[in-house]
Amino acid sequence: MVSRVIPVDPFDLVIFGGTGDLARRKILPGLFRRFIAGQMPEGSRIIGAARSEHDDAEYREVARAAIEEFGGEEKKDPALQDFLGRLHYVAIDATGEGGWSQLSGLMRDGVVRAFYFSVAPSLFGPLAERLHQHRIADGDSRIVVEKPFGRDLESAKALNATLASHFDERQIYRIDHYLGKETVQNLMAIRFGNVLFEPLWNSHYVDHIQITVAETVGVGGRGAYYDKSGAMRDMVQNHLMQLLCLIAMEPPAQFEADAVRDEKLKVIRALQPVDAHHIVRGQYDAGEDSPSYRQDSENPRSFTESFVAMRVMIANWRWAGVPFYLRTGKKLKARSSEIAVVFKDLGHSMFEGDEARHRNILSIRLQPNEGIDLQVTIKEPGPGGMRLVDVPLDMTFADALGPDGEDVPDAYERLIMDVIRGNQTLFMRGDEVEAAWAWTDPIIEGWERRADVPKLYEQGTGGPEDAQMLIHRDGRRWRDIKG
Ligand code: NAP
Repeated sequence: MVSRVIPVDPFDLVIFGGTGDLARRKILPGLFRRFIAGQMPEGSRIIGAARSEHDDAEYREVARAAIEEFGGEEKKDPALQDFLGRLHYVAIDATGEGGWSQLSGLMRDGVVRAFYFSVAPSLFGPLAERLHQHRIADGDSRIVVEKPFGRDLESAKALNATLASHFDERQIYRIDHYLGKETVQNLMAIRFGNVLFEPLWNSHYVDHIQITVAETVGVGGRGAYYDKSGAMRDMVQNHLMQLLCLIAMEPPAQFEADAVRDEKLKVIRALQPVDAHHIVRGQYDAGEDSPSYRQDSENPRSFTESFVAMRVMIANWRWAGVPFYLRTGKKLKARSSEIAVVFKDLGHSMFEGDEARHRNILSIRLQPNEGIDLQVTIKEPGPGGMRLVDVPLDMTFADALGPDGEDVPDAYERLIMDVIRGNQTLFMRGDEVEAAWAWTDPIIEGWERRADVPKLYEQGTGGPEDAQMLIHRDGRRWRDIKG
């Protein structure tokens, strides 16, 4: 199968924070892969910008080293030299005046202008202001804003207002790389491109839904940042909420940015408040040879959560009475992200001696091995009567789609190309982000008011015992976290 590469217009992409971790780990290697795929037309340029002094040649070496360290097979591609030739660098201070006239002089008419804010969130406002002041951004320019987008409703509103004073909403791309994942988009294709699932996608047939984003890493290295955030702000408010929206939303009229985002927004607005009884916070304890959260974050009195599990209800017709169980955490059993739609039991089993509870489960795996499987019940092969067994109908993309399945673009590269194409479908709109904070704020405020102490959990497990209780109480169980 030959993968179809959608052409894009020539562009200038300025990466503020072009020497930082995210740029080196994801953005530059991703852009190189798109270059190899033919999606960086003649005349397109990448301009790194940060405070450190570099010339173009030095920046190209920064990029080469990054691609060698973080790139995949493509790092051996002879096209690397040509790609590096497209890179330029400007030393610039987001909060000062240095470098701005030089950047202005580099800008060209007739190409797409995109500005990636891969810097600390405190610099988003200053960058937007200076791009405007120095007339570097025009009415068609796009800005890409990294997470975190605010730390509560108030700060998100303030940031939206600052960006809105310089850019129209159609120019602002708030990135959530979960939305760029192949499986997440496939979730929409599965739901809305097949006749099979949508009729069952409601409270008549769905017993409950589980969304798990489990990590094995701790917060070592970024403990200071994480300690001010916690799992609720770092993962639930954005990534898990976005997944929940895509699973629960009504079919949009078209696969078009505002149609999709309108439906997602309706889901967030229909979320019921979560009371303390239906949420569990955890913090990882010290392991045999590995530090505790408090040691990792260098805050011996930290009450920040590295784990959250919660039961969420959506107050609308489609989902009335269907619990959505969400959990995310660090230092868990395996690195695994999955959405599982667990369908209801059959009303009656006609098979004699069949005591087992057979359930259809649609599992959408985000990592590892991106793919989708549907657990179905069949007859166990061989003699011995009609014994039933559950087997997966598996569609691991890398297997199903052959070599091209392995070669699916990484979330960042896909999203950057969407920015160049001017397609906002997979980016969060300002009102969506605010609605998500409006829902999470009272939960976090409740914890702060009560000085809630997170439950300690053993590393390498599924989180604190209470998280098991949260779902057992409802007569259900978490799916195994499998890497
Ligand atoms: P980082 O490694 O600390 O890099 C920050 C970059 O910003 C550096 O290039 C730095 O270079 C530049 N910078 C700092 N102050 C500046 C200023 N006043 N003017 C211009 N440039 C300045 O941070 P990061 O990990 O790449 O993260 C960047 C953004 O992405 C953050 O918002 C973060 O939350 C988000 N993010 C990161 C990741 C990740 O995996 N790293 C994942 C998701 C989201 P100089 O010091 O030379 O100026």
